[in-house]
Amino acid sequence: MFDGLSEKLSGILNTLTRRGALTEEDVNAALREVRRALLEADVALEVVRSFTDKVRARAVGAEVIKSVSPGQQVVKIVHDQLVEMLGADAEIIDLNAAPPVAILMVGLQGSGKTTTTAKIAKRLTDREKRKVLLASLDTRRPAAMEQLAVLGKQVGVDTLPIVAGQSAVQIARRAMEAARLGGYDVVMLDTAGRVTVDEGLMIEAADVKAATDPHEVLLVADALTGQDAVNTARAFDERLGVTGIVLTRMDGDARGGAALSMRAVTGKPIKLIGTGEKVDALEEFHPSRVSSRILG
Ligand code: GDP
Repeated sequence: MFDGLSEKLSGILNTLTRRGALTEEDVNAALREVRRALLEADVALEVVRSFTDKVRARAVGAEVIKSVSPGQQVVKIVHDQLVEMLGADAEIIDLNAAPPVAILMVGLQGSGKTTTTAKIAKRLTDREKRKVLLASLDTRRPAAMEQLAVLGKQVGVDTLPIVAGQSAVQIARRAMEAARLGGYDVVMLDTAGRVTVDEGLMIEAADVKAATDPHEVLLVADALTGQDAVNTARAFDERLGVTGIVLTRMDGDARGGAALSMRAVTGKPIKLIGTGEKVDALEEFHPSRVSSRILG
């Protein structure tokens, strides 16, 4: 059984005599537990290190508040630091540009990119009353194109008709043109995924980006991604200038460490989370809730 971090820290720190201020020794003992909790939550090692350094700087020498135990006090410092690093409040998808606004969806194959594209389209249609056009750019996987068409139908959103033999850039240009002619507000471009980050994928997505000037580049990533989360996020962000992250499979057992890893290395906000296979299983990201989940 996993004991909550709060109880563990209380156990360690509350046996210490109150000295008026937290000493480096107290804080280091607590940080060993914090480190363990973060690693269990699958936060990448380099991020764990920078996180604990920040907490140490904040906690050592802090006056012990009379009304709370030293354990509770360190837990609060850890929680506050985590919320700060995860980002302030819920972030929204920015559509503040001349229509049709392009949203480029990127990510590894299997991350939930196509499903998330349909979920976001549904949200923009239902809640924000936008007219959305979907287009699949996965020229190598006809099944992926079909999947988007099926999902589009399910959520009541139009998909660009499939024309065989076109390149990703050609399809993207056709989508923008169709959107202009059809009076659409938003075009969501579902790029091809690969099992691992590869050069061909990045070049193709960068070409599509150059051709469509998207207002948002959303990286879809699986919350179950462990130590690889940092490399994936870094690679996509460096090449494509990610504007936001959508973390999928937050309905599973994942403690959500990938959220901290990705946010820390890219500085880009987590905009939404996927919480199931159904098309309405999409929620806003709340740093405070995810912080509690990461800490256990
Ligand atoms: P893609 O290859 O990145 O386009 O991934 P898909 O959209 O095809 O999704 C792969 C699988 O993950 C499908 O079975 C989806 O139903 C499932 N999936 C996507 N998002 C979520 C989520 O938030 N939670 C759960 N439990 N499953 C999801």
